[in-house]
Amino acid sequence: MEIVLLGDSLVAQYEDSKRPLAGWGEFLKSELIDVDENLHIDNLAVPGRSFSEFFYQDSQAVIDRLQKNDIVIISFGHNDALHRNNIDVKNFENLYHQFLEKISKAEAKPVVVTPPLPLEKFSELDFEKFYQILDIEKKVARKENLPCIELDRYTKLLKYKYQDISSLYLQLREGDSENYPEGIKDPVHFNIQGAKELSKFVAKMLKAQVLEMDINENYFGACMYPEVFGIDIFEKDVVRAKSLGMNFIRMGEFIWSDIEPIEGQYHFDLLKKSLQICQQYQMNVCLCVPTPTPPRWFTMKYPDSCIVDERGKQTHGSRQHCCTNNPDFRNKCYQIAYQIGCLANQYTCVKFVQLDNEFKCHVDLCFCDECKKQWIEYLQKEFITIEKLNAFFGTNIWSQTYRKFSEVVLPSATPFLHSVALMNSFKQFHESKINEFAKELSYIVRMNANCRITHNSSLGFNLDNEELFSFLDDSGFDTYASAQDYAAFQLNVDRWRNLKPNRSSALLLETSTSHAGHIQNYVQPHPKDYLSCELFSTMAGNLKAFNFWHFRGHRFGVEQPHSSVLTPSGEESLSYDEVVKTGKLFNYLLPIIEKTTYIPSKIGLIYSDDAKRKYTVETGGHYNYRSLITNFYKNLIDAGLNVEVISDKHSLHDFDVIFIPFVRNISSNLLDELDEFIQRNGKLIVGPMTGDRDEFGNWHTENGLGDLGELLCLSGINQEYFPNEQVFLNELMHTTERYVGYFTLIKNHLDWEPIIRFDKENSFVLRRNNTIFIGALPADFSNSYLKRIIISEIAQIDSDDYHLTCSKGIVKYKRSRDGKDYVFLVNMSSEASLFILKNSMIELFHHTRYKNGEYYLAPYEKLILVEE
Ligand SMILES: [Zn+2]
Repeated sequence: MEIVLLGDSLVAQYEDSKRPLAGWGEFLKSELIDVDENLHIDNLAVPGRSFSEFFYQDSQAVIDRLQKNDIVIISFGHNDALHRNNIDVKNFENLYHQFLEKISKAEAKPVVVTPPLPLEKFSELDFEKFYQILDIEKKVARKENLPCIELDRYTKLLKYKYQDISSLYLQLREGDSENYPEGIKDPVHFNIQGAKELSKFVAKMLKAQVLEMDINENYFGACMYPEVFGIDIFEKDVVRAKSLGMNFIRMGEFIWSDIEPIEGQYHFDLLKKSLQICQQYQMNVCLCVPTPTPPRWFTMKYPDSCIVDERGKQTHGSRQHCCTNNPDFRNKCYQIAYQIGCLANQYTCVKFVQLDNEFKCHVDLCFCDECKKQWIEYLQKEFITIEKLNAFFGTNIWSQTYRKFSEVVLPSATPFLHSVALMNSFKQFHESKINEFAKELSYIVRMNANCRITHNSSLGFNLDNEELFSFLDDSGFDTYASAQDYAAFQLNVDRWRNLKPNRSSALLLETSTSHAGHIQNYVQPHPKDYLSCELFSTMAGNLKAFNFWHFRGHRFGVEQPHSSVLTPSGEESLSYDEVVKTGKLFNYLLPIIEKTTYIPSKIGLIYSDDAKRKYTVETGGHYNYRSLITNFYKNLIDAGLNVEVISDKHSLHDFDVIFIPFVRNISSNLLDELDEFIQRNGKLIVGPMTGDRDEFGNWHTENGLGDLGELLCLSGINQEYFPNEQVFLNELMHTTERYVGYFTLIKNHLDWEPIIRFDKENSFVLRRNNTIFIGALPADFSNSYLKRIIISEIAQIDSDDYHLTCSKGIVKYKRSRDGKDYVFLVNMSSEASLFILKNSMIELFHHTRYKNGEYYLAPYEKLILVEE
């Protein structure tokens, strides 16, 4: 693998006669030495180069020499925005797009690095154009799903690290340097210190975004609160945790008022003592940035920072009560994030920094004045002209046409519903803004910390997780699924593993020892022996952490009814024995997991945050995405299939089977992937409710399924809801079946073989070659003939089928070592479940041979079967 650096004077290599002038590309190799000693970096950056000039003169030569998997870092911008170069911005966008596409075609990996900001304005640079170019670079990267390292944002934030940021630029007084005897005031270029600062950051981002750095350890632990219980109890709990086989502690996510009791006065005594104790007992730590709980002094001083949701302005208290778009709030958050980054770097036990806590778990939309202002700016950037917005939103319905951006309303209370596009866009605005906040927090933490950065997200919140975790090192999540709802737990394991391309850096950061709960929600505890099943499937499924919330129960606040390892008074909780068992299992599995490699499934199920958002706007009064997708997924795993739950931006290259249910808008990226997938004869199952809306949630202009309809040659599409079950004939199985709900009906087409006809002219389950289109689900999908058809065709492709087939409740994962397969089986259900072994295998727990034949797995029983 080689890294090719393309750029201008800010990236280039300099002779001694130019020092202290330096380009950030000069130091990249030394910053990446821990990744690969033999890493080759070819710095082709040329001072004075605009991207346009590079494109016409040298880009083809660069493309011609690229090898598969080479990394191409592209960092231009200043010279394209110089008045004298007179470059057309539209043309820049075109060329930029073309070049990135060519790199991807050569199977190399393009990385966009936006240029750093100048120290101050200067007359040669057209600043308006400069910012337009920055926007284009970011937009193209986002559209093409490419890594983007924003040096402009990083330099803007460097004021949190340096009192005088000019010390990083080439600013010399007369006599400071022999090379510049008369001194120099260069607002664009960096000195050695500045270039090293940028280089360090680029290297950290490459590790997080591009180089797929695995986590090589496994963690088992719990969340602790020294600020609540004091340092003595904290130490006792650490010792106790150690005795339970734990090696991991998360802390600090709500500690703000303890470490900054008065504005600007930081007290880290307690946190430092806690970290010293962790260090002493060799506990690995996830240290949090405590931004979800701004202290009272903050909301007293900045009352406008409180969030304004549908119920009105929220008061201080609880959590997440401040608007993350409020500039005062961001400023304070960034100051404390900087402090946490410094602290993280002082203790080797800190392996992770977690940003905030469960973004958007209590709040989603904010209607404050600041959000209103930023909403208009967002629309301007997204749509450029108001005519375009009107066209995409379809505002001529109900006389909603806007004459200028400032007239566009926020979707707050109205007599009836707002337009679907307005609501979707406002939600999208908030998703992108929370990611911007997270990005800036992470950039600031990285100014000092060398550890990995993560966040504890959830499938329950309205976030664009794919984008959020693209700039963090590891995907992290919380789940409190009940034992009855084990499919929801498994969906998390299979989804979060696939957030990062290497599939080996996902962290379960919060789960209960027995049940979740707060003062307004009591929850049933897990049955005996269930907890260790969760750990087993988490480890077999290649997740890297299994962490309890929380170690010692709270006696204050609202979460007293939440399960924990110890009660608030330090006695063993009812789930203590289960924790003991789980700790023993963790340490038993550890060497097996470390020596084996996870084997991904060839079956992919597409999960889409975009679809999830669309279902919050268009529910039809019946639907929500989370339960739709969880039920669909449960049907697959209960049929004994292994599934990788991937996003709609994921490559389909490694899959033999793809399911796309409920993805209402098919993005152009997914469409391209599907085109290729169909051409290589992959097994595709589309629907229900897939492809029937555009990116704003509107109906398509031509053909009811838009580009997907075009790709599949489907037309004459109608959509109707039928609340009562209706009986239809399954022509393939010669049997009848009941269907209910939202139907997508397709006019008969010669290419397509109807499996279930709606009437003479229309069908809703059809097949063409290896594609099955499903326009509605059976009333009882889990016992349906339709499911049988799908599963029987797919079971042959399932890679584990060679060893065994299993039935409802059994979750299985395959790992391998030295060419031998290890099949991990766990029955997550409360009923015994059958599996059929096709070849004899050795079972590791009991060291016994399992001959081929039928076996029952008792509820919560686990086996590790190894090829003989
Ligand atoms: Zn707001």
